[in-house]
Amino acid sequence: MMTMKLADRTTRIASSPTMKVTATVDRLRRSGVEIIDFGAGEPDFPTPDLVKAAARAALDADFTKYTPPSGIAELKRAVCDRYRADYGVEYHEPEAIITAGGKQALYNTALSLFGPGDEVITHAPYWPTLTEQIKLADATPVLVRTHAEDGFAIRAQAILDAVTSRTRGIIVNSPCNPTGALIAESELEAIADAAVRRGIWIVVDLCYEKLIYESVAHNLPGVLARKCRELTVLCGSASKAYAMTGWRCGWALGPAPVVAAAGAMQSHSTSNVTSITQKAVVEALTGSQQPVKTMLDEYRRRRDQLHAWLMADPRLRCLKPAGAFYMFIDVGDLLSLDGFRTSIDFAEALLAEARVAVTPGEAFDAPGFIRISYATSLDHLREGSARLLEFARTHAPVREAAAS
Ligand code: PMP
Repeated sequence: MMTMKLADRTTRIASSPTMKVTATVDRLRRSGVEIIDFGAGEPDFPTPDLVKAAARAALDADFTKYTPPSGIAELKRAVCDRYRADYGVEYHEPEAIITAGGKQALYNTALSLFGPGDEVITHAPYWPTLTEQIKLADATPVLVRTHAEDGFAIRAQAILDAVTSRTRGIIVNSPCNPTGALIAESELEAIADAAVRRGIWIVVDLCYEKLIYESVAHNLPGVLARKCRELTVLCGSASKAYAMTGWRCGWALGPAPVVAAAGAMQSHSTSNVTSITQKAVVEALTGSQQPVKTMLDEYRRRRDQLHAWLMADPRLRCLKPAGAFYMFIDVGDLLSLDGFRTSIDFAEALLAEARVAVTPGEAFDAPGFIRISYATSLDHLREGSARLLEFARTHAPVREAAAS
């Protein structure tokens, strides 16, 4: 039998574990099983009406041809204007590229900046694509752990302790998926000071930038523009802020040579983001931002309610996340009390017995945790959390001693 020989890089990459949960849920649903799905990392809201209307108008105007591979000028300007309005930073068209989601913005950036022998630091628990992309760029991810007891705070000192002569980049995701943590401006300032001294790139994944619940200072673009603009790449997305995951649109803002390199690669791979999508995102970014606020208010309500429900069992330990839309729960106490060895076992049994889909922490390099997405209706959250509590009770009754 001939063995099939694939390229080496395929052996270094694992397929997205978060997508695996979605695939299992789809399979069960197709076979008629009713599932409460807390796995999906996407808004349950429809795309705002005016954004959809802009797409229809683009279709009616036959705006259906190739566009420049790195995006239409109108959308690049809209991204720059949005960041100027939100953060007071100045970016111009040659410093902007429009990509197929934040994912491609981060991918193009990784391929433009990192290569063999380079180390790239990021914080764990992490969204798995970030580290897989570093590996796809033939570089080595270096992980700095953040801790539940410390609110999963990203500490400059811990990041800087991991810097070596081979460090070429630092990737920060804030608000963070899966922890919901925000990096403090002061911590980012300290990282930026060191980055300038050592010529290290800072890449910020701002995919959840619009989903921050309390009024805390989070002007990361402003900090980096002041400290190290020439070493900064900002990656953003329309997916979560505007409920547009399926449209596939994101962007990167950075020094013109980086953006040009990313554009050249994109021109030979996917080329332009769908022309109709681009027109819709112009409307999303330049039109009323009220839909974003309305969705944020609803996510906050769900977060608070879900947290209160889960608190009924003290063994489900979780913080109220500051941003994004995930509750990241330490289920370690339940693993030690009943036959589950890992949070993967826990999640699989929860799906099989209680028909609730969650993402096991292993997907984010955080064994012992599960992630619940609350981008779903309050009714689902009520029913799903009741099933989770019942599942926990059945498998591991709260002991009197532990409860007292
Ligand atoms: N960054 C993070 C942290 C994410 O969780 C996601 C999506 N799950 C993305 C980037 C990319 O999303 P998209 O490609 O849809 O913009």
